[in-house]
Amino acid sequence: MEKDIEVRLRREHIPNGVKNKPTDFWLIYDFDINLDRFIGDFPIVKTLDKIFQENSIQEERDNKIANYLQMSGILSEKRKVKSYWLPSVEDALSAPVKLFFNPSGKCPNKCLTCFAEELTKDTLEDHVARESFNQAVEMPIFWMNLGGCELAFYPLYFEFAEKAIKNGIHTSTAISGVGLKRKWAEQARDLGVKIKVSLDGPKEINDIQRPGTYGAAVEAIKLFKEIGYPVRINAVHTKYNNDEKVIDEMFEIAKMYGATGIDLSICRPKGGALRNNLMIPFEDYKNGKVKSVIRRFLYHPYIEKYKMKVWINKNVRTLNYLDAKPCQALNIHCNGGRYSMGINNNGLVDGCVFLPEEYIPKANINTPELFTNLNFILNIWQNDPTFRKVREYTKGELCPECKEKGIEFVRGCKALEAYYEGIDPAKLLH
Ligand code: SF4
Ligand code: SF4
Repeated sequence: MEKDIEVRLRREHIPNGVKNKPTDFWLIYDFDINLDRFIGDFPIVKTLDKIFQENSIQEERDNKIANYLQMSGILSEKRKVKSYWLPSVEDALSAPVKLFFNPSGKCPNKCLTCFAEELTKDTLEDHVARESFNQAVEMPIFWMNLGGCELAFYPLYFEFAEKAIKNGIHTSTAISGVGLKRKWAEQARDLGVKIKVSLDGPKEINDIQRPGTYGAAVEAIKLFKEIGYPVRINAVHTKYNNDEKVIDEMFEIAKMYGATGIDLSICRPKGGALRNNLMIPFEDYKNGKVKSVIRRFLYHPYIEKYKMKVWINKNVRTLNYLDAKPCQALNIHCNGGRYSMGINNNGLVDGCVFLPEEYIPKANINTPELFTNLNFILNIWQNDPTFRKVREYTKGELCPECKEKGIEFVRGCKALEAYYEGIDPAKLLH
């Protein structure tokens, strides 16, 4: 039987260890709902933001959001999945709603930030990729990133992108632009995949982190604009571009070549970023440099002037509520293993590719069992003890001041916490 997945359905599967846990909110939040001056690919942004502002009581707010989504049908109309009962999973959704599908490690580039190399340069065998993708799509995934590597060269790319989009899944991919063909861009446009072009700054900065890709990235941005499908820039925030002037230059590039905005991701400790020492020094968090760079980014004049959109990692996005207490910044914390999951070209399933190794399940999809157990991936999500470990971490802490409302602190990024002196330095931004 087919049934609309509604936020309310998800709620039923979430155990309430903590009173009024803001479960649904996480799901919604990932669609970049935030102050309406920031990015919102979905038309619900303004309404939800209003609900947030009008309702200080968590439960009331959650119910209003659920009702609103039900009435509007914005998500449920788009996403239909098979209705089947899922056992509850402690401290997580009973199935992931966000998927990072990274089937291939092949790429012509040698970016210093690359984590694909960490996952080996393998590509999943086609039948394994198809089966794991199909199992994932059976779950109530709302958002999918097809990536992990340069997928413009991956032969099954459009097969998967089309299937995801036909299933109502918001699908995105980041490309370097190297080797991009007009036909590929047109096909992505026609399908409606959200494309981002990786570019870490002006040429002299970008080409340190992504050797020789600047020209191709600019040409890609121009090409997408030319075919009527303008894209956003996707940048990794490292020690090299942690500079307000570089941020200004990035907006200038976006304006000049017709990108519609910029996504900025804090560099996280995995693969090349570690080996090549690209991480932002802890000192720059402490002395406020990172904060001023992020502030410049989030409040750049071009956002208003040229109607650009910006996005930033969730753990620092609380800055949108400038200097708010973490709990006031709407209970955002790590999604890894709680509602998001990755399937990687090395066969491993994880909660987040940046998590330290001890948080990555050992189960591998390169096994005949994948084909005999149709819930193979779901079982990993539900039962693997390693996921239990990451969920323990991300559970959050109750805010002492708002205890009776069950409001949680932001717990922060486990990957960053493991790297920086035992705390997620984003917490220093408040
Ligand atoms: S383009 Fe992407 S996959 Fe290729 S080397 Fe750069 S970061 Fe890695
Ligand atoms: S470990 Fe960090 S990067 Fe990964 S999901 Fe959690 S917050 Fe995000």
